[in-house]
Amino acid sequence: MATRAFDYDLFVIGGGSGGVRAARRTAALGRRVGIAEEYRYGGTCVIRGCVPKKLLVYASQFSETFEDAAGYGWTVGERSFDWAKLIAAKDREIDRLEGVYRRNLDRSGAEIFESRAVIEGPHAVRLLKTDTVVTAERILIAAGGRANPFADLPGAELCITSNEAFHLEQLPGEIVILGGGYIAVEFANIFAGLGSRVTLVYRGTEILGGFDDDLRQTLHTSMEKRGIRILCNDTLTGVERTPDGRLTAKLKSGGSLDADQVMLAVGRLPNTLNLGCEAAGVELDEKGAVRIDDHSKTTADGIWAIGDITNRLQLTPVAIHEAMCFVDTVFLDRPTKPDIETVPTAVFSHPEIGTVGLTETEAAKRFEELEVYRTSFKPMRHTLTGRDETMLMKLVVDAATRVVVGAHVLGPDAGELAQVLGICVKARLTKDDFDRTMAVHPTAAEELVTMYEPTYRVRGGKTIDD
Ligand code: NDP
Repeated sequence: MATRAFDYDLFVIGGGSGGVRAARRTAALGRRVGIAEEYRYGGTCVIRGCVPKKLLVYASQFSETFEDAAGYGWTVGERSFDWAKLIAAKDREIDRLEGVYRRNLDRSGAEIFESRAVIEGPHAVRLLKTDTVVTAERILIAAGGRANPFADLPGAELCITSNEAFHLEQLPGEIVILGGGYIAVEFANIFAGLGSRVTLVYRGTEILGGFDDDLRQTLHTSMEKRGIRILCNDTLTGVERTPDGRLTAKLKSGGSLDADQVMLAVGRLPNTLNLGCEAAGVELDEKGAVRIDDHSKTTADGIWAIGDITNRLQLTPVAIHEAMCFVDTVFLDRPTKPDIETVPTAVFSHPEIGTVGLTETEAAKRFEELEVYRTSFKPMRHTLTGRDETMLMKLVVDAATRVVVGAHVLGPDAGELAQVLGICVKARLTKDDFDRTMAVHPTAAEELVTMYEPTYRVRGGKTIDD
């Protein structure tokens, strides 16, 4: 046990997914744990990220479900959508989840503070609400990140970020979204599904940089078919209020877009501002993120950092995994490096993306020869609806070892598939293992085990048709 020279064995700054997991697990070991959160327990994921986002995604999909029902013989009566009702229902669920987070923390024995906490020294944290200082043998920084406000953009103060998108008083009739990453793409689909006219403006050549090109292009086409306007190779140079109270967003290419809301989704910044890192010798990197070693230890003795405040992968399960590794390393004497190789991920666009491992482009740089198995088809559900929808599946295989190094899916439930494909790719299963596996019929996923011949090969970076 730690020396009683300190108030706590561990003090955690930040009550999000990573911080709460570390606090609960350490307290369960019988250690004295304090945790401070300045806003709401649950953090970005629960309060203003993954969870409310997914609820809005579900809401946005009903419009097509009602339309598609006709193909199956249903007559759906008059439909209307009430944004305020959705937001209130979503808020009730978030309140419930916040309660669950707090109760779990409480049961674990951790002491909960509702206060902003700043580091005062290697073992000292000041709680601003009560202006008191507590001491801890170890400090864990898990204060997360925040939406980049893009302050350099003239008129940025007129715009919203994902934070405000969850609390708008009304559904915007017309919205412009800047960015081409997860958040921009997910919200473009949410707003379009709920009935807004959406324009997505992205500075690069294709949305979702870093994902497999096939997924990016097919999703782009699919979003356009749903009426979302996508302007690539362009950006906003300013936003102004018009006399009628709406907004006009100026495009770099010339021209402008009128909208009720302009949403900025240009990445997230680590929450290190005024956190007192410098006081304790915690170095930051060039992006302002806490610099850590392979075991999440900062440059200051006794201080660790996990989650979005570090410059690793900004994903909830990654923060939770880092928390588990932190407790193993520090309190269980089992040094464990977080393993953030081959992380499956999903984009809750419409259709969804589920992906794990290397893109074809990355794999082509790493391996001399690839076999690429690719199929695209109309999902069975849409044979009767008549909807022009494409599902895409792609396996990228290292030809020399037959190991499946990347698996990419666009289509219904792709996120669910990514979880299972994640196990396969992480386990370094070969294409022969996939081939040996019996198909589940009739499903879309059976295509993953019935693509017997490569669609094409990539040798020395060049595509060769079989
Ligand atoms: P991303 O990093 O995914 O995307 C940021 C986007 O903003 C990129 O398209 C980037 O363009 C663009 N951008 C950055 N700076 C500027 C600028 N100055 N002007 C114009 N465009 C700019 O960030 P998000 O905000 O979408 O999401 C943050 C993180 O949250 C994600 O990385 C992800 O890890 C996580 N997240 C995960 C989700 C999930 O798991 N489903 C859902 C939502 C978020 P460029 O590509 O050219 O750099």
